[in-house]
Amino acid sequence: MVLVDKDNFPRAKPCGGGVPMGTIKRFPYLKDSDFIEAYAYGGFIHSPSLKYRIEFHGEKPVVAMVARERFDHGLALIAVDNGAQLLDGKQVKDIHISPDNAEITLEDQTTISSDVVIGADGIPSTIARKSGLTPQNKKVNVCVFQEYKVDEKTLDEYATTERVGHLHLMYENIPGYAWLFPKKDCVNIGVGEFMPFRKHTTKKVNLIEMYNSYFKMLQQDKLIPKDLKIGKVKGGSVPIYPLEQTYSERLLLCGDAAGFINPVSGGGIHFAMVSGENAATVISNAFENENFKSSFLSRYQQLWMEEFGKDLRMFASFTNIWLRQAEKFIKIASTVILMK
Ligand SMILES: Cc1cc2nc3c(=O)[nH]c(=O)nc-3n(C[C@H](O)[C@H](O)[C@H](O)COP(=O)(O)OP(=O)(O)OC[C@H]3O[C@@H](n4cnc5c(N)ncnc54)[C@H](O)[C@@H]3O)c2cc1C
Repeated sequence: MVLVDKDNFPRAKPCGGGVPMGTIKRFPYLKDSDFIEAYAYGGFIHSPSLKYRIEFHGEKPVVAMVARERFDHGLALIAVDNGAQLLDGKQVKDIHISPDNAEITLEDQTTISSDVVIGADGIPSTIARKSGLTPQNKKVNVCVFQEYKVDEKTLDEYATTERVGHLHLMYENIPGYAWLFPKKDCVNIGVGEFMPFRKHTTKKVNLIEMYNSYFKMLQQDKLIPKDLKIGKVKGGSVPIYPLEQTYSERLLLCGDAAGFINPVSGGGIHFAMVSGENAATVISNAFENENFKSSFLSRYQQLWMEEFGKDLRMFASFTNIWLRQAEKFIKIASTVILMK
């Protein structure tokens, strides 16, 4: 198996780094290693007007925080320990599928031939586009974010040792939300827009201006240190919904490349990992049966649909209502405070 990546590992990845506890349960090896930077034991979800908020705390962690550079490198090393060859710093430019093999072409025009290809190349995915599985007009959601070092002791004062995080829904009426995720010795601050819901607001969105205003508000509310200097923000995109079809002859698409994202939270690490495992199961069967035809690989789509696809569809219809009615939801829910 060859693992090809355009970047050299360890590499950065635009991300908030929040991993649901369900992911840790599903892949217990994440817990036992030094993958996790910190656990958050509580958080707040704020209403658009900032008048109401839901507060939750737990004796057990509610979310794990990771540094993607280290997390992703650790995962790549597990693949290498299990026999994969890591070919990093090599960009895939094209893919050609024939009845006998799947061939990818790298930037330097060298080719790699194999029985099957998994396109897990994020968004926008070259493999999904070149294989015709992504529609031409596919839209994406956009976010801006930055991570700031804050020494552990100072962060204990601002986010407590529980590492309490914040989500501000429809911040300044952007159709999306802003976040503050404290980790071990840094905070991740971002603002994201859910483009399909833009029609629910007449506001013209400038995410960088929003970010600057959010950063100031966090300082005014004493959620981050007053002397923290705002940094140059980085941009990133996330898919909006899964592709209609995530397989074809000798090819499977996983993670962001397949459009797997939680439309409520913007989280995709869980689905990237689960779909990767689903793909491995199906490909292992394909080798046993020496069958890489589209009809055989379609089992992959059934697996992810059963495991999380139906939930994603349900969440997608919910997001629309959630964002439009966020003020009311939070107002009602704010009367319920989950305490330790
Ligand atoms: C600002 C932001 C905040 C986010 N916050 C969270 C969060 O808190 N929690 C969460 O769960 N999710 C979050 N997400 C989403 C999450 O980052 C993705 O869903 C997740 O990384 C998807 O994993 P993946 O492996 O499919 O793709 P990626 O992590 O994007 O990995 C794709 C890999 O493919 C490589 N690649 C791309 N093109 C090529 C090519 N042509 N040739 C070779 N290699 C290539 C890239 O270098 C990369 O290493 C966030 C996303 C953004 C943008």
